[in-house]
Amino acid sequence: MRAAVWHGKRDVRVDNVPDPEILNPRDAIVKITSTAICGSDLHLYNGFVPTMEKGDILGHEFMGEIVELGSGVTNLKVGDRVVVPFPIACGNCFFCNEKLYSVCENSNPNAAMAEKMWGHSPAGIFGYSHLTGGYAGGQAEYVRVPYADVGPIKVPDGLTDDQVLFLSDILPTGYMAAEACDIKPGSVVAVWGCGPVGQFAIQSAYLLGAERVIAIDRFPERLRMAREVSKAITLDYEEVDISAALKEMTGGRGPDACIDAVGMEAHGMGMMGAYDRVKQAMMNETDRPVALRQALMSCRNGGVVSIPGVYGGFLDKVPFGTVMNRSLTIRTGQTHVQRYMRPLLERIQKGEIDPAVIITHHMSLEDAPHGYDIFCNKADECIKIVMKP
Ligand SMILES: [Zn+2]
Ligand SMILES: [Zn+2]
Repeated sequence: MRAAVWHGKRDVRVDNVPDPEILNPRDAIVKITSTAICGSDLHLYNGFVPTMEKGDILGHEFMGEIVELGSGVTNLKVGDRVVVPFPIACGNCFFCNEKLYSVCENSNPNAAMAEKMWGHSPAGIFGYSHLTGGYAGGQAEYVRVPYADVGPIKVPDGLTDDQVLFLSDILPTGYMAAEACDIKPGSVVAVWGCGPVGQFAIQSAYLLGAERVIAIDRFPERLRMAREVSKAITLDYEEVDISAALKEMTGGRGPDACIDAVGMEAHGMGMMGAYDRVKQAMMNETDRPVALRQALMSCRNGGVVSIPGVYGGFLDKVPFGTVMNRSLTIRTGQTHVQRYMRPLLERIQKGEIDPAVIITHHMSLEDAPHGYDIFCNKADECIKIVMKP
């Protein structure tokens, strides 16, 4: 089959690779009909995630048709059209029973590797380095889906791929980030990053009752989408002092909740930004927490800082004193996607949310190298790419 394969930093190629096979009774083989490139794939592309190996198949946002099933999967049939969540979860362990699917304790065969880095292991993830299991991803013609009786949900007739594909990750991710904010009537939420997760975080914050959402970015097309599609008030951090602007817009108090939808490769300005880039380049620091620092400093006393942005390792100069002294609550985590797929599918069916609005590019899987290039460089006003094999 054809698949988008990682060959090294900024080197993705579409190669011929062996077809996946059923390895366990609870596996399914899915023939991919649509797959997306995620902002977190760029951390792999840019070489910031350790334990990637030449030949790894990328992709954790995908959907398609079941073409083969193991004997242990009885709730799906060959021919079913499904969306697959990015964290792989067994459905039976302590964490799955708590609905903490992204930290399932049975799905990462490389748990020992993850324990060295993080103390304990999270769940396995499709196409996301050997630290999270070394699973082949779904930017391919076919993929093996473990625990297929737990994760994938059937897509009702009448919904297009574009409407439901993002149930695999970014829609639940934006929603979980907003849900973490304890939104009440009158709440003001600030969102750093107007990429796909940022857009869904803004829209979800309004769905959950926020009065105002303030969105922060520097790319005009992202700010425009945040204003016109997601209905946020926007701030360009190259034009205004964000902390001062947020104070002014909230009577001096600060937003009730702040969402960092940027993560480890934040583009920083001024002294701290340059300091982080140099340190990250020298491998003294794994992550550049510019947006996170600003979110922590800007949030009102007793507010919530919600972090859907991906971080890998160690953060430098994070103002933890502001967290303790001002009673901030930090909520974060890889998304427990399985928890949100059905309720969000219902919201899509009711027309409360239309995930397809953020798609700016459709292309063939064969064009994946070009897709990674323009998405990484924010070229051609690229916000979200959907590929079809
Ligand atoms: Zn993703
Ligand atoms: Zn589990």
